[in-house]
Amino acid sequence: MNTEPEHPLRLSESQRRNVPCSSPICLPVTSLQKALRAPESSPKLYMATGLVASILPDTDLIYFFLIDHRLHHHHTYWTHLPVFWVSILALAITSCLLMKKRAPLLLVLLFGVNIVLHLALDSIVGDIWWLAPFLNKPFAMFSVPAQYSPWYLNFILHWSFWLEIAITFAAYAAWRPNRVAISLQTGPVGP
Ligand SMILES: [Zn+2]
Repeated sequence: MNTEPEHPLRLSESQRRNVPCSSPICLPVTSLQKALRAPESSPKLYMATGLVASILPDTDLIYFFLIDHRLHHHHTYWTHLPVFWVSILALAITSCLLMKKRAPLLLVLLFGVNIVLHLALDSIVGDIWWLAPFLNKPFAMFSVPAQYSPWYLNFILHWSFWLEIAITFAAYAAWRPNRVAISLQTGPVGP
């Protein structure tokens, strides 16, 4: 029997079950769900859809290292080409609208937002061929100067790396606001 006293900021198991998703990270999804008048689905399904889409373009690194042997920039593969994803998403959104499927439409939009977000974040210091195949020109907001050796130090010591750390921390704080609040008040808590 668990005799550990409940922390006042921590939700109990029954409270957690009654709240579909208490995390602020779910707010945009629940707002979109209400706007589309889509039926409520599992927060785990929303989270899984978003997470899969957010890393899907980078699965091309398997091909890059194991098959292409680093011969081409992996951002030139179709997995990182906006034209590919825009076409797929336009097709999926149109199909959902024609068939009046609101629940899948919500998942498609969630998937699409995370794909576009991945490409936009890649474009901060990495080249993305936004206008391919119409224009064979990569676009990046900033460049990382080659000042250090080995090469990866240029990225670790660049401000954009700390931006990535900040985004990761913000995501964790949004996902587990209670845990972060407890940590800030009492020090780190266990997993
Ligand atoms: Zn990427």
